[in-house]
Amino acid sequence: MTEPKRAGGKKHIEDLNPFRIAQQQFDNAARYLPDLDPGLAMFLKQPRRMVEVQFPIETVGGVVKNYIGYRCVHSRARGPGKGGIRYHPDVTADEVRALASWMTWKCAVVDVPFGGAKGGVICDPKQRTRADLQAITRRFISELGDRIGPFTDVPAPDVNTNAETMAWIYDTYEMLHRGENNLGVVTGKPIDMGGSYGRREATSRGCLFCTQRALARGLLSGFNSVVGARVAIQGYGNAGAIASQLFAEQGAKIIAVSDSQGAAFDPDGLNPNAVLAHKRATGSVVGLKGTSKLTNEELLELDCDILIPAALENVIRADNAPNVKARIIAEAANGPTTPTADRILYERGIPVLPDILANAGGVTVSYFEWVQNNENEQWDEDTVNLKLHVKMQRASDSVLDKQIEINESLGALNSGRKEHGLPADLEPVDLRTAAYILAIQRVARVTLERGIWP
Ligand code: NAD
Repeated sequence: MTEPKRAGGKKHIEDLNPFRIAQQQFDNAARYLPDLDPGLAMFLKQPRRMVEVQFPIETVGGVVKNYIGYRCVHSRARGPGKGGIRYHPDVTADEVRALASWMTWKCAVVDVPFGGAKGGVICDPKQRTRADLQAITRRFISELGDRIGPFTDVPAPDVNTNAETMAWIYDTYEMLHRGENNLGVVTGKPIDMGGSYGRREATSRGCLFCTQRALARGLLSGFNSVVGARVAIQGYGNAGAIASQLFAEQGAKIIAVSDSQGAAFDPDGLNPNAVLAHKRATGSVVGLKGTSKLTNEELLELDCDILIPAALENVIRADNAPNVKARIIAEAANGPTTPTADRILYERGIPVLPDILANAGGVTVSYFEWVQNNENEQWDEDTVNLKLHVKMQRASDSVLDKQIEINESLGALNSGRKEHGLPADLEPVDLRTAAYILAIQRVARVTLERGIWP
């Protein structure tokens, strides 16, 4: 227990450092892998490379501003590093490390041939003009130089970056590498410059497919689909806003959505198009006619069937997990649930579809975009969505099956530990641990198949 932090006015007794959380999740899963070499485990847990750059921009008003940016490659065992770039005032080196490692496990869970990477710039986009953001992006990418590339490390959108940001990244890289097919250097690009149909919606659509599979397999009693399920969504950006549309299209009732200013709540169900129009007109979901305002904390504790955190890390913690009334949680965001909250939710019988599975649709369609770029192809949206469905369904089944497999072999695993003088204290695993076990097995296998050079 270190570094008590304040958020939402409450004091936390948990360690909320995202990288230490990611490592804790790894360690927890590694206990169920008796054949994992401890040295290999140590290697797989750490990022391969972390780059910090410091750079200036001159704002439109002629003021010089200094920024710090990070790019971390956690693993390239299974393919080029892959992961988004985040612009946020709270970006830290450890947050970037955590996000990069989650990308490694996510790509392995959904079985796309990428490793894990992530980037971030400490900045507040709300305080910057579009021209400033373009300058930040171009200067950051030129500082990274050849540390990114179509076959080494491929960025994508994340919090506060979008297709336009990706277009600037592509253009900057292209200026420095003329005469090559550089489209694969970044994904999430606009459609007319090598982006993929379906990428914008992919994170949310993947989350929907994963939730549908979990429900079809009986994880939410009384429901075998999302039809009629009451859904609350925290975060109204790329992941959250589109999830509200897609879940509603499939017959779910969206009872609350939120952004950084608070939540709009209607127990009878919100009209996603009206919410979108209100957000566009006013800059927030709060205040839509016919809805009541809730805080983000209240949204997380709403009586609902499905809770979708789709904003930032550490929102479901030891202090509020006992009050969560959702019956299942689908993590569209990265790292929204702390390890202590995971334990509380598991004991309360609330399944959590973990981030490294539930939001893997984004990187899956990023992979499809990269394939199309390298093959000079363009697939139609139905093709993309069909392929995404296959990937997400297979990954969801693999995680659900892994949980069953591990929990059925606990006796043997504990006996093995006893024989080696270790405490026979392995308990049934939740879905996050099952997903980690699957991912670590896949990444470890490839690392050993490749051989450790020299
Ligand atoms: P975004 O910038 O498009 O949207 C973020 C949203 O969160 C905004 O609506 C913002 O108002 C809201 N928000 C910020 N602080 C909040 C708070 N304290 N309470 C409630 N809402 C808050 O970002 P995004 O791309 O939708 O990413 C959201 C999450 O999804 C992140 O964890 C990201 O890593 C994850 N994710 C995104 C993608 C992708 O393709 N964009 C893929 C996988 C995972």
